[in-house]
Amino acid sequence: ALPSVAFIGLGNMGAPMSVRLVRAGYAVTGFDLSEDARATLAAAGARTAETAADAVRGAGVVVLMLPSSAVVEAVLSDPAVSEALIEGSTVVDMSSSDPMSTRRLATVLETRGVTLVDAPVSGGVKGAENGKLTIMVGGAEDDVERVSPLLTTMGTARRAGPVGAGHALKAINNLLSATHLLVTAEGVLAGERFGLDPAIMVELINTSSGRSGSTDNKFPNFVLPGTYDSGFGMKLMVKDMRIALDLAHELGIASPLAQSAVTVWERALKELPDTADHTEIARWTFQATAE
Ligand code: NAD
Repeated sequence: ALPSVAFIGLGNMGAPMSVRLVRAGYAVTGFDLSEDARATLAAAGARTAETAADAVRGAGVVVLMLPSSAVVEAVLSDPAVSEALIEGSTVVDMSSSDPMSTRRLATVLETRGVTLVDAPVSGGVKGAENGKLTIMVGGAEDDVERVSPLLTTMGTARRAGPVGAGHALKAINNLLSATHLLVTAEGVLAGERFGLDPAIMVELINTSSGRSGSTDNKFPNFVLPGTYDSGFGMKLMVKDMRIALDLAHELGIASPLAQSAVTVWERALKELPDTADHTEIARWTFQATAE
């Protein structure tokens, strides 16, 4: 039988991901602080709870899709949640969390007979809707195997290593992705000023060695049309870059390019509204460099 699932964090990503679990036949109980988010999941036929502890009570698998490690830690250290977690259950943290925090949490949960698997994702809101996410999994092999049917309803899951490995890989992926996006904006701006058409530039780069997720997805879909609405917040992207850079520093790696990229992104984040989409880094670059 399919395990009962508690799903906490029903935002841009958690909403479509939890709906896929419901459609695959899982008995899902969802919780989010936002009442609107709960209503969206309820409309898809799932149960929703009034507290995280009520969602978690009795669940075989607890999926988290929350903003950050700070929130994940706050939810899991709530005494009511702690008490509601059943022995033998698995917590699957699909948020882009800090791998150091994940390792600590795994140790704490283990003392209570609860397993932690980290399973962050790439592929955006569209990938979440279509079940086409890339899922980077960290955990002991048998723990990962146990939750892999559930993960497969949301995308392609691949074990990266022991607990924390998924979160480390995801942070590094986003550091690359954010750095590509920033340098693509700088390059396109230079080309445009030289007299090139940005659309032609991006098209030709996409069959050349400078291509990336920024040239084949973010520029054509969100930057060049001027919509800047990918559904992934700038604040969340900067959080991920910070995790990767701090990790590098902790490991004794200076990472001068990553350091510069983080400095620029953090400046943009400070100047833009809290709700800015991460693709706004390109518009900000075009404007900041325009004078
Ligand atoms: P979001 O801000 O849209 O959703 C987060 C949800 O968590 C919100 O609905 C919020 O109300 C809820 N929440 C916050 N604190 C809570 C608490 N204490 N208890 C219950 N609910 C709480 O964020 P998102 O874009 O869905 O991202 C979620 C995670 O996935 C982040 O770690 C992000 O970095 C990562 N991610 C996002 C994308 C994307 O394209 N949006 C892609 C890959 C990974």
